[in-house]
Amino acid sequence: MCGETSLSHKRASLTADVVVVGAGPAGCSAAWDLCVHGLRVLLLDRTEFPRKKTCAGGLTVKAVRALRYSIAPVIQRSLCSLSVSCRMRHPKRFKINDPICHMVERSAFDDFCLKKTVAAGAHFAVVKRIDKIVESGRRVALVADGRMIRARFLIGADGAYSRVRRLTGRFARFRPGFAVEGLVDRAPPSDLDMGFDFSRVAGGYGWVFPKAEHINIGLYTLRSDVRITRQDLVDYADRRIGGPAPTRITGFPLGMGGWRYRPGRGRVLLVGDAAGLVDPLLGEGLYHAITSGQKAASAVADAMDTGRDACATYAKGLMPIQRDLIFAQAASAAFYRLPGMGHLLLVSPPARTALITGFSMGLSMLDIFRHAYRFWFGLPVPASRKPNYF
Ligand SMILES: Cc1cc2nc3c(=O)[nH]c(=O)nc-3n(C[C@H](O)[C@H](O)[C@H](O)COP(=O)(O)OP(=O)(O)OC[C@H]3O[C@@H](n4cnc5c(N)ncnc54)[C@H](O)[C@@H]3O)c2cc1C
Repeated sequence: MCGETSLSHKRASLTADVVVVGAGPAGCSAAWDLCVHGLRVLLLDRTEFPRKKTCAGGLTVKAVRALRYSIAPVIQRSLCSLSVSCRMRHPKRFKINDPICHMVERSAFDDFCLKKTVAAGAHFAVVKRIDKIVESGRRVALVADGRMIRARFLIGADGAYSRVRRLTGRFARFRPGFAVEGLVDRAPPSDLDMGFDFSRVAGGYGWVFPKAEHINIGLYTLRSDVRITRQDLVDYADRRIGGPAPTRITGFPLGMGGWRYRPGRGRVLLVGDAAGLVDPLLGEGLYHAITSGQKAASAVADAMDTGRDACATYAKGLMPIQRDLIFAQAASAAFYRLPGMGHLLLVSPPARTALITGFSMGLSMLDIFRHAYRFWFGLPVPASRKPNYF
């Protein structure tokens, strides 16, 4: 990876304006904006890139729009339809002329974003272990691999297991969801839609995502008490798409509960999965990872320019994300309690039209609901983001 360095080759003490821990989508989004603002950014990750990240790689339209650069070179497929079923019976197809989701391979997507971020000016380094984080006055210090790194701010973008979150004792109300994914090594048939099968897992669903040369298949639950095994995935794949059996099966937690995250005070900000910002209804995490990274960067840049409190600014910036999450939390509690009823509602023609149109326009679930509600009850809808079913 160009621009990469190991901290062990460096002086005993390093300084930067901002240290970003974690070079996934949240960390790269934050680092890119900070570099463009002219700040010195040290971007740390515990592995070299490209690296495997357990993820289905479905980027919604709103996530692609939120990115600061085109990711066309790493998009494998853009899908305009999806199928939804409950207990794997009577699948209903939603179709529209515009894309509703773009498929990427996470290792390629993350590597692409990191290269863009390094090209924007970030200094990337691999650290094996972060031992300590100390906030004091106008600085924050981090001890990693025996080296001291000092900065004005630290952004924790190190995912669901966030070491930054644990070392700083921030956000105790974090809670994990869980998902398992595997790859079926055959080219997807041309009529295979992106599919969601509700009730296959308690508090979640099974998915099928057709990529360029293979099919990504997985099981998701928002419940931390539900266990998903390898065999569950093999059985689901066998029933859903037949052989060959999925390989490279891995599971990983998703960061949730972020509607309760309060940045508090100080010099450490959490973003993405580290801050629990995954949408519990669908398990979508990339959009909030990207946007929270950007909002943290904007808060830090503002603090560097004006001396205002970065955490307070970030707390305000997070509000729209947290509103989306509160809505998704309430919707998921209702939907997964009675998935049969939820499914009937979901596939009803008005909901279907609102959802597919809203997805293609890059609206959030909350905006789709707001607009559809206003439409059904004859209330005016803001013209700026009016879906074209009006
Ligand atoms: C099976 C599965 C399928 C999913 N599918 C989708 C999907 O299709 N669409 C979607 O929108 N979301 C999906 N998600 C959620 C999505 O993957 C996450 O929300 C997203 O990756 C969060 O981005 P992030 O940058 O916050 O964290 P991550 O992508 O987890 O990146 C964190 C980075 O921090 C690094 N790191 C970790 N610990 C340390 C440390 N101690 N020191 C230094 N670096 C560290 C890691 O190496 C990594 O590079 C899925 C999740 C799972 C588990």
